[in-house]
Amino acid sequence: MRLKPMIKAVGAAVLAVLLVMACSTVPVTGRRQLDLVPSDQIMAMSAEQYQKFMAEHEVITGTDDARMVKRVGERISSAVKNYMAGKGKSDILAGYKWEFNLVNDPSVNAWAMPGGKVAVYNGILPVAQNENGLATVMGHEVAHAVAQHGNERMSQGLLTQLGGMALSVALSQNPSQTNNLFMAAYGMGTQVGVLLPYSRLQESEADRLGLIFMAMAVYDPRQALGFWQRMAAQSKGGSPPEFLSTHPAHDTRIERIEKYLPEAMKYYRQ
Ligand SMILES: [Zn+2]
Repeated sequence: MRLKPMIKAVGAAVLAVLLVMACSTVPVTGRRQLDLVPSDQIMAMSAEQYQKFMAEHEVITGTDDARMVKRVGERISSAVKNYMAGKGKSDILAGYKWEFNLVNDPSVNAWAMPGGKVAVYNGILPVAQNENGLATVMGHEVAHAVAQHGNERMSQGLLTQLGGMALSVALSQNPSQTNNLFMAAYGMGTQVGVLLPYSRLQESEADRLGLIFMAMAVYDPRQALGFWQRMAAQSKGGSPPEFLSTHPAHDTRIERIEKYLPEAMKYYRQ
């Protein structure tokens, strides 16, 4: 082997080892995921972006709908917290500061940022129809947050777009690109002109975990079917919900929900 290819091969091997080390495990599903970004850094970034978003949008408070969003969010996040504590895995949620806000915006949308910062747009409420419908979408978003899908996407983005640069370095050297990467990673991409939807794998995982989490919070997971069918009907109306542009793989979703339901029902105590 000549020197140059050898250096390349060694470099690739070192990178491979580093990437294996830079992995974490998704709770419940046990999937290994890329984790290059320290969670305290991403949570600090998340808290700042969330606060900024809420300051720039009309947050609805004091209504039945606003209270329902907080109630559903708190029930689901507490159920997940209790479950993790029961498994001796409270560290997974260390640093999470859950917030659930209803935003006055007609878009059919909802998203979650790392560390448990959740936004529900009131445009999605008619599709949710009731508290179980809302629990379906919020369970799905809480699942993205608990499974650290945002961190995973940030890690992938830093690797592919910024050459594996550390987040802190990327922030100081390429602040706008790094911020765009962050916004795109949490379903806010359309606002910054970059669209990086969740992968099929992450969507599938969020559907599976979302059903389990809503069941743990004593919301009937069977009601998720109706919710996703209503979402599918929306997308046939010519203007697909914003949610679906960042949460793809819609065609297979109904089948997937049916497949994961028996597992979720094991966590459901009426
Ligand atoms: Zn999703």
